[in-house]
Amino acid sequence: MRQQIVVGNWKMNNDLAQTESLITELKKIEKTSNAEVMVAPTFTNLFKAFNALKETTIEVIAQNMHFAENGAYTGEISASMLKSVGVKTVILGHSERRAYFNETDAMLAKKVDAALAHNMRIIFCFGEELADRKSGKHEHVVESQIEKALFHLKPDAFKQIVLAYEPVWAIGTGETASPEQAQDMHAFIRKTLSSKYGATVANSVSILYGGSVKPNNAQEIFSKPDVDGGLIGGAALNASDFFAIVNAF
Ligand code: PEP
Repeated sequence: MRQQIVVGNWKMNNDLAQTESLITELKKIEKTSNAEVMVAPTFTNLFKAFNALKETTIEVIAQNMHFAENGAYTGEISASMLKSVGVKTVILGHSERRAYFNETDAMLAKKVDAALAHNMRIIFCFGEELADRKSGKHEHVVESQIEKALFHLKPDAFKQIVLAYEPVWAIGTGETASPEQAQDMHAFIRKTLSSKYGATVANSVSILYGGSVKPNNAQEIFSKPDVDGGLIGGAALNASDFFAIVNAF
């Protein structure tokens, strides 16, 4: 059975004190599902968060990283820097990185390689924009994003990769893909993986859905056979909402 995973992406929210108080709240809540739980604080709070959560089942992960090992890349963070503070998993390709920081598929392929070279796990995000969906190009866009950033990899690499389908039109908008739209796309993603790597790899990769998942819609979305969890933005900033989503499994 595939691993169920719920990831909280805190984005550029929460200073150190706010991070500590959110963690205190998270630690009070009981996890009743088998889902793996991860939270992604901003870089400055990773070390503190890692130490505060290391005795728990909540993994602290990063929101991004650079592909280079070190050097003249002002403002950037490398895989080995993340690992030095205990982080073993990184989100790559979030639509906000693609849209506001010009991350391209080619750049993401390099980031994927760098993370894998450090034996890190990757939550790899992709998804179409509203215009793509309206013009019926959503499957083509998603297929191309996956192919360009991941299809140079050997099958074994997929043991380290979790996919996150996040339709851009549903992120932070309150608009969610219907459970059927999510299921259709997740099945298409699995078919795309299967055509390149075979059914065993395709059936073993967890595929998360992201885009305005809330306590009141999580259960229906997670009930779909190809949806293995969620990448949660806004609702992850509130401990009880986040755990209501985790416990929706
Ligand atoms: C996200 O940031 O990946 C996300 C899905 O955000 P939200 O849940 O707020 O739509």
